[in-house]
Amino acid sequence: MNRLSDIGTIKELLSKHGFTFSKSLGQNFLINPSVCPRMAELSGAGGAGVIEIGPGIGVLTNELCKISEKVVAVELDKRLLPVLEETLSEYDNVKIINADVMELDLNKLIAEEFSGMDVVVCANLPYYITSPIIMKLLEDKLPLKAITVMVQKEAAQRICADVGSRMSGAVTVSVNYYAKPQMLFSVSAGSFMPAPKVDSAVIRLDVLSEPPFKTDEKKFFEVVRAAFSQRRKVISNSLSSGLSISKDRTLEVLEAANVPSNARAEKLSLENFADIAKNL
Ligand code: SAM
Repeated sequence: MNRLSDIGTIKELLSKHGFTFSKSLGQNFLINPSVCPRMAELSGAGGAGVIEIGPGIGVLTNELCKISEKVVAVELDKRLLPVLEETLSEYDNVKIINADVMELDLNKLIAEEFSGMDVVVCANLPYYITSPIIMKLLEDKLPLKAITVMVQKEAAQRICADVGSRMSGAVTVSVNYYAKPQMLFSVSAGSFMPAPKVDSAVIRLDVLSEPPFKTDEKKFFEVVRAAFSQRRKVISNSLSSGLSISKDRTLEVLEAANVPSNARAEKLSLENFADIAKNL
């Protein structure tokens, strides 16, 4: 068993380093011993290069180091660096970068650190910036095979919903443009220290080698954001106000795109959004 899943060991380690949890950095560390090996295995890390975001005290990092070619872990909290130095001392295939992942040029990092390797992301994400991190990983068009992340269960359900179903939202459509998402398994709130208020889930996004169709991406995502900005309204109203265009013009665009003006955003397909963008 990974000793970093043991509460006694964690408490001893943290008190030795004078570490206290930062709520604002989303620090909920995994203590359920079965989660990390399973997550590492299912992420495709075996024999690949791995980017981990937010290693914390290194519980998942340990499992990733065991099976992968190389791990580069990006941790924002510099107080965790001496802890990680201690907990990862037995591995020579790991590098810790002290940075905010949102500020990093990940294309450059991959070119410099993972030459010739398949690369995957595997991380228990800080929940305050789950969607921005996932969208950055996808929008930066990184040469990734897959992204396996732990997120809040509700966010996982939203991301993995079928496009065109009641649960779908802007994030569902956006993620599905770049990747094929799937729910892997649920993780109870009690699997973390401190325990968050809600359950979590691990999802995997298999990154598409190319987009599903050609579209003006700027317009496509503007349409998606506008369409879901007022999800209770019919599409003609949400687009007209979200894109600041007249009602008449909106109706023309929807007709040209073959989308009923009284449809709701959650009922539209990826292609519907692309057709609206094309006719704008
Ligand atoms: N991987 C560890 C685990 O599973 O126990 C810790 C996961 S904890 C949910 C999230 C981690 O992300 C924390 O270590 C936190 O300090 C780090 N973090 C928060 N914001 C970050 C950012 N913008 N860039 C990189 N790391 C960040």
